[in-house]
Formats: sequence, structure tokens, C-alpha cells
Amino acid sequence: MPRPKPMSADPNCVFCKIVAGQIPCRKAYEDDELLVFHDIAPWAPVHVLVIPKRHIASLADVGPEHDALLGRMLGLAPRLMRELGVHDGFRTLVNTGRDGMQEVPHLHMHVMGGPRPWARG
Ligand code: AMP
Repeated sequence: MPRPKPMSADPNCVFCKIVAGQIPCRKAYEDDELLVFHDIAPWAPVHVLVIPKRHIASLADVGPEHDALLGRMLGLAPRLMRELGVHDGFRTLVNTGRDGMQEVPHLHMHVMGGPRPWARG
């Protein structure tokens, strides 16, 4: 079955509202297609979310046309962690769908680092 055509923004999506500036965030990085902001309920001393600005509901909704975008999301992580003072390793996590415990249905990659112990994870 063909995948549904992606929307550029979903008016009911909290992360689309952050992209649009309708909900505030603590921004860590931004370019034409990606936004990175600090998680509102961090698990670790540094906990950011890397999101595409265009609405993609989850990792289950990407296709080959998103390969470059996904590569950029992952490639940004080490650079950001260095800039945010994380020098001893970090975790990356993409929760996908209901069984994957995804709470916000807009593709995002958690990037967490900093000295342990952490609140979670
Ligand atoms: P997930 O369970 O992978 O969908 O994670 C969603 C994450 O988004 C959680 O860690 C939340 O704390 C975070 N979150 C939800 N709303 C906001 C917000 N307005 N600003 C920053 N982080 C948020």
C-alpha cells in the first residue's frame, strides 16, 4: 500500500507548533530542515530532540526520499554534543509507534549525554 503523502505541518502537532514558534522551546540548533531543542523533561544532564521541520509522524513513515534527512539528523548528534559540553559519550534514541513508546507523533531523535547518574535511561 502506498504511504500517505506527508504534510508539511500538522496543526495538531506539538512539535510543528514549536517549529512555527507557537510554543516556546530552548533551541540548540536550527537550519533549513532541522530544529534541535532541549527536552522539557530531561532524562540526562544534556537531553535534546532533533526533529525535521516538516511533519513526518514517525520513523515508520520515512522512505528512500528521507535518507539524506535521516543521515543529517544522525550526523548532527556528535557535533551538537561536543558543542553542549558532552565529551564522554551519549545515547541516541528514536521511539517509533505505540509499541515503541512514542509519545509525540512527529519524528524525533533523542540525544542524551552528560555525567551519570541520569534521571532515566
Ligand atoms: P517520545 O516518547 O520519544 O515521543 O518523546 C517525546 C519527548 O518530547 C519527551 O521526552 C517529552 O519530554 C518531550 N516533549 C514533549 N513536549 C515538549 C515540549 N513542548 N518541549 C520540549 N520537549 C517536549
